[in-house]
Amino acid sequence: MTTTIIGFPRIGHHRELKFATEHYWKNKISKEELLEKAKTIRQNHWQAQLDAGIDLIPVGDFSFFDGLLDTANLLNVVPNRYKQLNLSPLDEYFAQARGRQSDGTSIKALSMKKWFNTNYHYIVPEFSKTTEIKLVGNKLFEEVAEAQALNVPVKAVITGPYTLLRLSRFVDGTTPNEYVNSLVSAYKAVLAKLASQHVEWVQIDEPALCFDVTTHEKNVFDQLYDGILAEKSGVKVLLQTYFGDIRDIYNDVVSKDFDGIGLDFIEGKYNQELVEKSGFPADKVLFAGVLNGKNIWRNHYSETIKTLNQLGIKSNIILNTSCSLLHVPYSAEDETELPGDVKQHLSFAIQKLSELKDIDWIFSNKDKEDKILKNNDALFSNVKHPVNEDVRKEITSLTDADYTRLPKRSEREQIQKDEFKLPILPTTTIGSFPQTKDVRQNRSKLRKGEITREEYDQFNNDKIKRIIKFQEEIGLDVLVHGEYERNDMVEYFGEKLDGFVFTQNGWVQSYGTRGVKPPIIWGDISRNAPITVKDTVFAKNLTNKPVKGMLTGPVTIFNWSFPREDVSPKESVTQIALALQDEVLDLEKNDIKIIQIDEPALRENLPLRKSNWYSNYLDWAVPAFRLVHSKVAPSTQIHTHMCYSEFGDIIKAIDALDADVISFEASRADFTLIDQLVEANFQTEVGPGVYDIHSPRVPSEDEVESLIKQLVDKLPLEKIWVNPDCGLKTRSEDESFQSLKNIVNATRKVRSEI
Ligand code: GLN
Ligand code: ZN
Repeated sequence: MTTTIIGFPRIGHHRELKFATEHYWKNKISKEELLEKAKTIRQNHWQAQLDAGIDLIPVGDFSFFDGLLDTANLLNVVPNRYKQLNLSPLDEYFAQARGRQSDGTSIKALSMKKWFNTNYHYIVPEFSKTTEIKLVGNKLFEEVAEAQALNVPVKAVITGPYTLLRLSRFVDGTTPNEYVNSLVSAYKAVLAKLASQHVEWVQIDEPALCFDVTTHEKNVFDQLYDGILAEKSGVKVLLQTYFGDIRDIYNDVVSKDFDGIGLDFIEGKYNQELVEKSGFPADKVLFAGVLNGKNIWRNHYSETIKTLNQLGIKSNIILNTSCSLLHVPYSAEDETELPGDVKQHLSFAIQKLSELKDIDWIFSNKDKEDKILKNNDALFSNVKHPVNEDVRKEITSLTDADYTRLPKRSEREQIQKDEFKLPILPTTTIGSFPQTKDVRQNRSKLRKGEITREEYDQFNNDKIKRIIKFQEEIGLDVLVHGEYERNDMVEYFGEKLDGFVFTQNGWVQSYGTRGVKPPIIWGDISRNAPITVKDTVFAKNLTNKPVKGMLTGPVTIFNWSFPREDVSPKESVTQIALALQDEVLDLEKNDIKIIQIDEPALRENLPLRKSNWYSNYLDWAVPAFRLVHSKVAPSTQIHTHMCYSEFGDIIKAIDALDADVISFEASRADFTLIDQLVEANFQTEVGPGVYDIHSPRVPSEDEVESLIKQLVDKLPLEKIWVNPDCGLKTRSEDESFQSLKNIVNATRKVRSEI
């Protein structure tokens, strides 16, 4: 037994799980049909791993929405307000994940956050006074039984208690410590039950050990695992870490009674030093994460073999991916339209399985002249990324002035108030309006050549006319064109910029049933023609109200693409920033006076260790954003937008973006962000979202009114904007139109009372 993976993509080869789940939500298929479909999908995924020859196959990594929520539900961490709905376990689960509004009930979803430094989002479990931890779920055990019936060599997978506590929310004044003992009992019960199913290995995922670990947190870890490991019921316990190194707790981890320890040697390069310096216990199995689970590039076999040899561990080693393959698409074989040299360098989930087997073969046979090794390294080294000398030169000549907007924001604020004369509490949206079926059909007709470019544009122009009219009618203050021309906020820009290539089926799960198809950065990046100017100007000419231009920021375009590994992130982001600077100046030239540069992904690529936040990332990411807008006139108002993450701890960096206005996602997180903004004396004008657009639920006028009043109570009145949490593209028109009306009416009411 020498190969395993941490987890497999779960949405299905052709996103079957997405479609089945969404059909279930729309009552188009029954619960039984959904469960049956899920079973087939799991079976296919196990079969793919069996076919590749993977020795130990993860079971329990499947999820209908999110793995952390699965673990919370397994252990009864379900807030009472969902239990009181008296739904079936599956519907109760979906109610937590996405909220629920039907026959008189209306309940919000739990909040959702970015999963470590990835573009995946998890549902944040909530602990309260009434939380009673005990093993109540069956999902894991049923899947184990299902796999065993198919002769799958099972490694049961569950998220660990440390990570669960680290990522959850604690309400009613509760703290993580209170739950340590009951978690120990519950995890023991899980192990006992798996033991009764004759499971050999149990993988307990503890990626949170790759964050900084304080002394207090280390004590929590000790209490948890000294407790759990005291009674393993005969199963082998693998402590699986990923997304970085575990320097703060390595010595502690290796001294405990784990049977296996999973370390990431890709993002956690320092793990290698830990193993070399402090040694690795001979009685434990090292699950060596040597195959990058996040990138999409072919592995450089001789480099990987070198790493393995440096570790100096010959037996008791199982080759592993660095993290779950959840973060890569299914198979590069599906890509028939990519240029040959690009395709030959791709490795998605299916290819990674065979790479792992190849590495295993080479490693155990130690044949330096190995055919597989030579073949792969030859392919790997035969890469020709297009170079743009002009862009490279421009970057070397940038100075501080290029990153600085003048005059300073406090002076611009008054200039802009005079320019736009907006009412107090100005209302706006984040950009996109619902991408209804006809919008997607129009795009697909163009792609298939069924309509002309003129017909396509005509359709979108009609949509823009309609949505401008709607926004005027309901009384929004700053309008948008609706982003109908965009399939996706990153792919759209990638397609218009030089340097990117695109997959046809490279879907990666973003949250729940939502997938993204990240572009691939292949060459140097530059802009050869205006991108958004035509649509924005068309919208502007339809109204007397200001129309806001909409761009995706450089950090987000980069973070939501598959990056190169031979060019630094800083270099790629700066290339994108220069391309966007041209776009900003073109919009301004065309009389677009408000321009929003979305950076929802700013936070997600933060290094896991705080000490690296500035030195390794924000020090160049924040200036790159300023580079995009530093040359506009004082009266041009720059907006930005952020969502999906906790921003409380990078407020200073966000202020340093030097935007004039920012809209945040806030409504799912109970507005805690507001207090943090106040405390940090945040200077940017701010619109904390008052409508959770990730849920089909329509907030009532009263509810929005009370949120706005909270804002008014806490923040300076002249700095507050009113807007939804994010773009409306995933919502239906009925829901979002009604919600926007409620927002505008609630704002009017608050204004009239001030
Ligand atoms: N402007 C984008 C939209 O409205 C922003 C999306 C996002 O932040 N994810 O769709
Ligand atoms: Zn957003």
